[in-house]
Amino acid sequence: MVSAIILDGYIDEPTCLGVPPYISPYPRYIAGAIWTFDPNALITYYTIDQVRTNHTLLESFNTVDVLIVIAGMAVPGRYLCGYPVSPGELYRFLGPIKNPLKILCGPAARFGFGMSGGKKTQYINPDTKIFDVFITGDPEIVITNLLNKENHLQDIDVSKKRKNASDIASFAANGAQIIKQHPFFPDHLIAEIETYRGCPRSIIGGCSFCSEPLKGAPDYRSQKDIHLEIKTLYSSGLKHIRLGNQPCIFSYKAHDAAKKPVPRPNPTELLRLFKGIRTVAPDLKTIHIDNANPGVLSTYPEECRKIIDIIITYHTSGDVAALGIESADPYVIEENNLKVSSEHALDAIRLLNEVGRKRGNNGMPELLPGINLLFGLKGETKKTFQYNYDFLKRIQTEQLLIRRINIRQVIPIPGTPMESISTKLVKKHHVDFQRFKRRIQTEIQRPLLQQIVPQGTLLTDVIAEKQVGNLTFGRQMGSYPLLVGIIGKHELEKPYTVKVFEYGFRSITAHRYPVYINYASRDILEALPGIGKKRASHILLNRPFNTKEEFITSFDDVTSAEKILPYISFERYH
Ligand code: SF4
Repeated sequence: MVSAIILDGYIDEPTCLGVPPYISPYPRYIAGAIWTFDPNALITYYTIDQVRTNHTLLESFNTVDVLIVIAGMAVPGRYLCGYPVSPGELYRFLGPIKNPLKILCGPAARFGFGMSGGKKTQYINPDTKIFDVFITGDPEIVITNLLNKENHLQDIDVSKKRKNASDIASFAANGAQIIKQHPFFPDHLIAEIETYRGCPRSIIGGCSFCSEPLKGAPDYRSQKDIHLEIKTLYSSGLKHIRLGNQPCIFSYKAHDAAKKPVPRPNPTELLRLFKGIRTVAPDLKTIHIDNANPGVLSTYPEECRKIIDIIITYHTSGDVAALGIESADPYVIEENNLKVSSEHALDAIRLLNEVGRKRGNNGMPELLPGINLLFGLKGETKKTFQYNYDFLKRIQTEQLLIRRINIRQVIPIPGTPMESISTKLVKKHHVDFQRFKRRIQTEIQRPLLQQIVPQGTLLTDVIAEKQVGNLTFGRQMGSYPLLVGIIGKHELEKPYTVKVFEYGFRSITAHRYPVYINYASRDILEALPGIGKKRASHILLNRPFNTKEEFITSFDDVTSAEKILPYISFERYH
């Protein structure tokens, strides 16, 4: 019987996320490959955060046949409830582990560790013998070969990839139950679902910074395979999914995808995909999407309008289509073979706003665009910052909503055209980049948040994740959720309904709704709009209040009292 430990050090690739609350397909497919080989295999799954907080787990590492580490960030972001493993941690944790066959897979084995934007990736030195095998191909395929012992270890082709998507069909379904071992299971775990890999734009080289074209033309998973995987995840207890593992959800099974860089979308196939998900997993609490090519939306508005309608019919609200615009500078667009001009990007944003901005059940708009802007690309000059600023200003002037503006610096991934440019321009424009970020935060992002969730908006199911001072930070489940600072200390991992009242640059502040005025602590009272220390003391001295009228009459200033009425309740605390 095979015994294995999968250590999830987390991955973040252009088309796939596996940092909690997300679990990427990597551990699921790998577990599926092992269980397909040996249905009785003993597989233990740990996240790197579990190991960080409990080093005794490392003792069990020496007792298994094989240790598989998944790691690597190609597009590192900001994370709230999990932090990716670094090479230094792997040296420290795994150095003393001698017995199992130690395998590294994921982007770290292919391209190195991208620890932050604007920096080169770091590799694990093979001479340190921390790992016996570096899998640069598909881990589930290579591990299957290893288990079958088709060759001696030294003869195994570590770069072997799937022939096509059907190779992983049984692995995806058989490995689903590994999710039960994730510390976020069942309530707070989102499974990233793959619908295809490879980019249609690979036939013209793809975008200069992106590793996806290295996977070739799109290879689609069938709806049948995707539905079977989701059905198995769902029956294992999963509640949240994101169809995030592909370059563009609108291009799923698009017409002539292997022949055209901007293929015509196929709404019929998308309908079959989304409808089938609801059939096999009717009560999923979250169904979200991720990347969308703005060039596809602007070139085929009719087809994409139909697809937006399909997504909104079957998804859950608060969804985001992340548009990889990268730059509004025409010279940078040309030099880096980017996918869309700023005019066409605006068309895509308008199209998503047409239908997507209406408010959904959880208080957020149904489906908004997100924008990715990337700096340090070939051809970048000081003017690039002005082009990007003007572009964002146009969006603001038209009062279009964008859920998120992701501004980052390029990581020169080995094997992509960016490798030769390296971090030259990132270093040269470091000051301009910081200045640009600050300007966008104050002038664009804050006003945008005010439009997306106006004061008084009720947001439901905000899961408390972290306490910092007198704030409890939480988020709704799903794609790029808004960071909410809830006033006061609240029990973690519980869902709360909150009412929005203040805005930061990337987050909002909200009150847990309602505030039970006769029971709330001084801190919570003081933070109510227009209250402060003096009026909070007044409330504390004069409560309980049984009615709204009683409350208003006891107050020195009627306007202040009326201002907080929408936030409070006179009922008993429950
Ligand atoms: S369109 Fe560009 S960024 Fe998107 S997957 Fe293809 S090559 Fe990568």
